[in-house]
Amino acid sequence: MKKYVIANFKMNKVDSDITKYISVLSPLVADSDVDVILALPSVSIKTATSKLSKTNITVAGQNVSEFSFGSYTGEVSAEMLKGVGAKAVLIGHSERRTHFGESDEIVNKKLMSALKSGLISILCVGETIFDKTNGNTIKAIQQQLTKALQSIYANELKNIIIAYEPVWAIGTGVTPSNDEIHKATKAIRNVLGNMYDDEIASNVSIIYGGSVTDFNCKEISKITNINGVLVGASSLIPEKFGMIVNSFSGKRKK
Ligand code: PEP
Repeated sequence: MKKYVIANFKMNKVDSDITKYISVLSPLVADSDVDVILALPSVSIKTATSKLSKTNITVAGQNVSEFSFGSYTGEVSAEMLKGVGAKAVLIGHSERRTHFGESDEIVNKKLMSALKSGLISILCVGETIFDKTNGNTIKAIQQQLTKALQSIYANELKNIIIAYEPVWAIGTGVTPSNDEIHKATKAIRNVLGNMYDDEIASNVSIIYGGSVTDFNCKEISKITNINGVLVGASSLIPEKFGMIVNSFSGKRKK
């Protein structure tokens, strides 16, 4: 099964920063067997893909419109992302849900739109601190997943990566224990097993995101039920991100 290490730059770098970043990162991860993906602001995707053509790094969008085309000022469609070279897109990141009011229903529409255009969809789910303290971690994940995957066919799951991102771990420096991550990702496979079947569920890529760093990545890479990580802050420095990528390299999961 493939492994993914995905950087989420959020709104932190302009084109020229990204160009410099790529020239530092590319040689550091050239020998890795991991799929390295940079989730970039839409405006930088074209420049980045032109610099990445001879590397093992691909590019994702950070968001996609639920609509295909039309009078939606400021929106960027899945076809537009594909047109500038994106191979994937983040969907339902907690910052989109919290700051931009994305409901599970909108996440579902965005997922359908991305899949229709052939983009790998990195679907983010995870509990809030409120869910966690009330013992509702699994329930929150189940609900987000069930709603996001409504009307998605089994054969489309090969183009979906599920990112388990506890909201309380994003940007906080706090991470769940490996056991907690294992339990949550097991719950994700159970939901998939109930919605589709166990074999399909076991073949879906699940990654972890939330305060992954160059210090804790080795420990997190020991979790047997995950296929990689999604990294925010620690992805902004290419040397750190390179170390995270390489900590997942050479370890075949299943
Ligand atoms: C994220 O925003 O997806 C994320 C994982 O951020 P950080 O690594 O900074 O917690």
